[in-house]
Amino acid sequence: PSPINPAKTLSLRIVPYGNHQRLLIARDVSERLLLDAARRDFVANASHELRTPLTVLRGYLDLMEAEAKGDGTLAPWRSPIDEMRQQAVRMENLINDMLKLARLESARAQMRQDPLDAPALIQRAVEDARQLSRGQHRFELDIDPRLGLTGGETQLQSIFVNLIGNAVRYTPPGGAIRVRWHESAEGVRFSVADTGIGIPQKDIPRLTERFYRVDVGRSQASGGTGLGLSIVKHALEAFDARLEIESEVGVGSTFCCVFPPQRTLRLPAVAAAASN
Ligand code: ADP
Repeated sequence: PSPINPAKTLSLRIVPYGNHQRLLIARDVSERLLLDAARRDFVANASHELRTPLTVLRGYLDLMEAEAKGDGTLAPWRSPIDEMRQQAVRMENLINDMLKLARLESARAQMRQDPLDAPALIQRAVEDARQLSRGQHRFELDIDPRLGLTGGETQLQSIFVNLIGNAVRYTPPGGAIRVRWHESAEGVRFSVADTGIGIPQKDIPRLTERFYRVDVGRSQASGGTGLGLSIVKHALEAFDARLEIESEVGVGSTFCCVFPPQRTLRLPAVAAAASN
């Protein structure tokens, strides 16, 4: 807030000026912050409002699908009903991800600071991924059961679920997915390495943009919303963590998150054993 007018927010920058002087540049960013907040509120409200009618449609489509599987009057409509239901599910995923992203963007400053049993959360995300994989991928886990984190559970779970889920969705059947959770000199590292389709180098810097996809068709066919990595990026920011991406087309990708040491938590041995 500006000391002159407390309703204003100024962005301050100090730059070198001549040999011994410094220049202070103050920019009024109040308008931009207000617009950003209005946009986030709009997205959050719109997603929330869209959920209710869609839930009703989904409910009826589920019923019709069950009916169409028999020999009754709906039998000839089996394929269009199935398609409608799939599209409704896609829209539902999209709305949920938009809502999640809008909440993450506005809740950044107020993330909970709870002790988190990260190994247990990783195990849960791996179980979800195994369902998605339907036994078509090999999972290798290398998880330090004593390492926990401090922060928000929703945020941390979004990171684990999206990165492990992507590894399954972009790795052809028969491939392997390696999940690691261990300590390094820089802090705790969470990494997911796959033997999947890989990502062209030129696309890597843009992956965390909203709706950015390397191949739209493949993303949609695999149930992707195009928001997963934006969600991961925002959740990582709340933890002051960073994301490193390495990939080679046709060989595979590694997504690695580095959490700062001050967030590290030693889990008691009993809880660690139970989580394994
Ligand atoms: P989507 O819902 O499309 O998967 P994401 O934001 O999660 O959206 O990812 C953005 C894009 O990054 C994807 O569309 C895909 O092209 C690429 N991508 C993400 N993870 C992987 C991966 N493990 N292997 C290959 N490509 C990936």
